[in-house]
Amino acid sequence: MTPSTDRNLALFERARQAIPGGVNSPVRAFRAVGGTPRFVQRAEGAYFWDANGRRHIDYIGSWGPMILGHGHPAVVEAVQQAVLEGFSYGAPTECEIELAEEILALVPSMDMVRLVSSGTEAAMSAIRLARGATGRSKLIKFEGCYHGHADALLVKAGSGLATFGNPTSAGVPPEVAQHTLVLEYNNIAQLEEAFALHGAQVACLMIEPIAGNMNFVRASVPFMQRCRELCTEHGALLVFDEVMTGFRVALGGAQSVYAAALPGFRPDLTVMGKVIGGGMPLAAFGGPRAIMEQLAPLGPVYQAGTLSGNPVATACGLATLREIRKPGFFEALSASTRSLVDGLTTAAREAGVAFCADCEGGMFGFFLLEALPQNYPAVMKSDAARFNTLFHGLLDRGVYIAPALYEAGFVSAAHSQADLAETVEAAREAFRLLRFS
Ligand SMILES: *Cc1c(COP(=O)(O)O)cnc(C)c1O
Repeated sequence: MTPSTDRNLALFERARQAIPGGVNSPVRAFRAVGGTPRFVQRAEGAYFWDANGRRHIDYIGSWGPMILGHGHPAVVEAVQQAVLEGFSYGAPTECEIELAEEILALVPSMDMVRLVSSGTEAAMSAIRLARGATGRSKLIKFEGCYHGHADALLVKAGSGLATFGNPTSAGVPPEVAQHTLVLEYNNIAQLEEAFALHGAQVACLMIEPIAGNMNFVRASVPFMQRCRELCTEHGALLVFDEVMTGFRVALGGAQSVYAAALPGFRPDLTVMGKVIGGGMPLAAFGGPRAIMEQLAPLGPVYQAGTLSGNPVATACGLATLREIRKPGFFEALSASTRSLVDGLTTAAREAGVAFCADCEGGMFGFFLLEALPQNYPAVMKSDAARFNTLFHGLLDRGVYIAPALYEAGFVSAAHSQADLAETVEAAREAFRLLRFS
């Protein structure tokens, strides 16, 4: 394809004139991997077609929401019906209750839920609620976990545990970052030390239970158990950010995975997004009644939204949840994801490429490393140049994975055995490129 006939390139050049970096969310710009972002023309099932009419097998699925694949008929029908009735009212609708009830029925740690429009907004609101409910200001997060781009969360570790964090973005006042303590994921000794020093001031500990924003790293069961115990002991709230894992790794989210290992385990608050909107702007946060009733209009913690509980978005989310709760859905999705991961692992081994991978439900991650990393510094030992060779090797063969090595991948119910086999075959060829790189 020459530059003059490459429509992706032409669109990217045009986009860069009107939109900073040509994109409305930075990772889409391919800065980490180089090359031209694919502009999507349309999508169906497991595929999308780019502006050059090229088909790709899609393992991003809008970064997780498209668990049924693109354009699932039942979801399209629900959205079309909702649109005919009206777009937005700024007044309550029955569909919001139905979606709330559906979520609560599937996630036992939540008695009540509030709907918002993005994961960022949900995480930010959950932190305000935790602060309001506890009367404390400090929060704990972990390096490599992403909770959206609210000021208090764009923070990296300061020097040592006695000091709080520093901003990772220009525009975040240092005073705001100083309420956030950033710890190493899966480091029990450091967690204990942090609570010993600051426990009485901590409003909440926020965690991605299976961290999908540093590719795919599980919190170990003993680490999660200590998070739970220390929060309870010190009166801090344990907040699960399940924006990515909720309704993605299991019907009950990652918390159901930990509850299987730790009987009775539950977080205090849960933040959700991505799958619950089925591809529409919708997210949520929820928890026990006594905490949720601290929210306005009942309680003193203010929170609101013009488009919150939007009728088209709630119809889309509800139709999606009704599909994924059908018997056998997660068993089949997990088996597909597992077979992809096994196929990739075998292909890498045959090519003599260091490779390891993990998955849960419809979410997976892989590393060009000998062993699965347990925290962010270990993830960052991955060789970016080798990842980029693999990424472009796959892209050239019509397989679209995240354009950065610190992002998870997603399989949908629309990915057939043939799609997975085609992906493994493409990977087999791409791994050969790596042997000589
Ligand atoms: C995507 C994501 C967010 C942010 O959600 P947005 O809808 O992009 O604002 C927050 N937390 C986690 C774990 C996420 O994966």
